[in-house]
Formats: sequence, C-alpha cells, structure tokens
Amino acid sequence: MSSIQMTPVQTPTGGVNEITPVLLPSLKVRYSKRAARLRQLAEAHAMGDYLGFCAQLADAQHALLERIPLPVALVAGLAERLSNGQAPLATVDYPRDRYWQQLLQGLAEQLYPEANPSVRMTLDALREHTPAQLEQLASALLAGGYEQVGSGQALFLWAALSLYFTQLASALPASASAALGEQRQHCPVCASAPVASVVMTGPQAGLRYLQCSLCECRWHMVRVKCSNCEATGALDYWSLERQDAAVKAESCNDCHSYLKVFYPEKDRDQELLADDLATLALDAEVEREGYGRSGVSPFLFPG
Ligand code: FE
Ligand code: FE
Repeated sequence: MSSIQMTPVQTPTGGVNEITPVLLPSLKVRYSKRAARLRQLAEAHAMGDYLGFCAQLADAQHALLERIPLPVALVAGLAERLSNGQAPLATVDYPRDRYWQQLLQGLAEQLYPEANPSVRMTLDALREHTPAQLEQLASALLAGGYEQVGSGQALFLWAALSLYFTQLASALPASASAALGEQRQHCPVCASAPVASVVMTGPQAGLRYLQCSLCECRWHMVRVKCSNCEATGALDYWSLERQDAAVKAESCNDCHSYLKVFYPEKDRDQELLADDLATLALDAEVEREGYGRSGVSPFLFPG
C-alpha cells in the first residue's frame, strides 16, 4: 500500500514550505504537447518513424478527449473511493467501465487510415476480440503480464486505458495527505509503476516527483532515495553526453534497478513520455551495466 493517502478533504495549503504530495494530471495540453515534442525529437532520430507514429497516437488521444470525453456518470462514484485509505483507482480492484473500450475503438479508427501494414494487422487483431476478451487483456496488461498481451497490442490497450485513468485521476475531488511512511514506489492514485521521475521547476522547483505510467499523476519522493527500494546512499547517475545532462538514469546498487530522472530546467521543451522514448540509448547503456528498468515505458512494452 502506498504511504501517500488520498483523502476527500480539502486540506489547507499550510505553510509556504509544505510539499504537495500528489499533483493530479491536467488534460488540456497534455497530449498535444506530447505529440509536438515527439515530432520535434523525431527529426534526425534513429527511431524517427516510430516517434512520429507515437505522435499520431498522442494526437488521437487528444482528439478523443473532445469526441468521447469521460461520461459524467463515471465521475460521480469517485468521491466514495477516497474514504478507505487505499489508492482510489487501484487497477486491481477498480471496476473498469466499458467506456475505455470506446476509447480503444476510437484510437483504432483514427489511426487506421494512415497506419502501415503491421500496425493494421495489430488493429485488426484487436478488433477481433470480444469485449470480455479485451477486459482480460487489460487486466493482464495492468498486472504486468506483458507476455500474455504482446507488445503490439499492449501499446494501444495501454493508450486507451491510460486515457481513461488519466481522465479519472484529473477528475478526482481530492487533495492528498501524505503519511510519513515508506513505500512510495507505486502511484498513490492507481498503484501503477512510474515511467520516470522529474526534478520540478515552478512552484515545486527542485523537488523530485515520480510520474505515473498509467494515470499520469505525479507524487513526491525525496531525491536521495532509490525510487524502487528506497535505499539511500547507493545511487549512481548515468548520462550519455555531459555532466549536467537534461536526462540521467538513476541506478541503485541495492536493488540493481534504474529509473530515468528528467531535468526540465535544462531543457524547457522536455515532455516526459516523449523524451523517455527518445533516450532509449541511455536505457541500453545502463542495462549493459547490469541494471534493470524499474518503471514502465508506455510507448514500448516488452513481449
Ligand atoms: Fe497512477
Ligand atoms: Fe533500489
């Protein structure tokens, strides 16, 4: 269980030094900004075609926010999930509405006309599943059973599920209260793994937050701890170019995992998911050193 608990009570902001434990996602420019950054990074990139394709996927997510937004009825039940001290959208027991399957279908419809043959094959395969089969695949994917899903279908299933959970998270009538416990390696809202961490600018300047790979919340974690096992003092930082790189990999010699840290202060155009995908060379380097990635990459699933 996460040590940051979501409560339904609006707590006052308190002193100026109080740290906001959870930042709920805003939707407005999330996907359009991601698409723009992916296109920018795609230029002269070895994986340029794939980055461009992921930009189309982000565009499709953005379009669906307007075309099939989260039904109001699904927001109504959120408040009561905040009272039991658990992650309110924990994927293991949150009763998913079939709405997310509409999102999946919407993504497929939007991407199909411009898709290459292999993407079309994947989208065709998705279309053959019954609603019940799609629920089974979603449950497997959210539980980390990538081999049951396959990387091709996982990409689209995750994009739809993430669009669903991100809308739910952004609609939470919550402010989070932080208990001073441990175990912050999972999202306090949906209990999923982070995609990466970010050393913030703006009101939270200098603080490190982890960003959820599914619902895109950010939650606070002190910088001196491993984001996976919370050990201190055994962390190393890796980067490809230079000392003050805008992205580093933080590796831990206790649990032998790593997660990337992003520094938007050094690159104002940074967008976490886009830049994560564009810096796979860093992953390869750190994995060669014997560390395993602890987070999820929403644009790149194993299996
Ligand atoms: Fe989450
Ligand atoms: Fe660790």
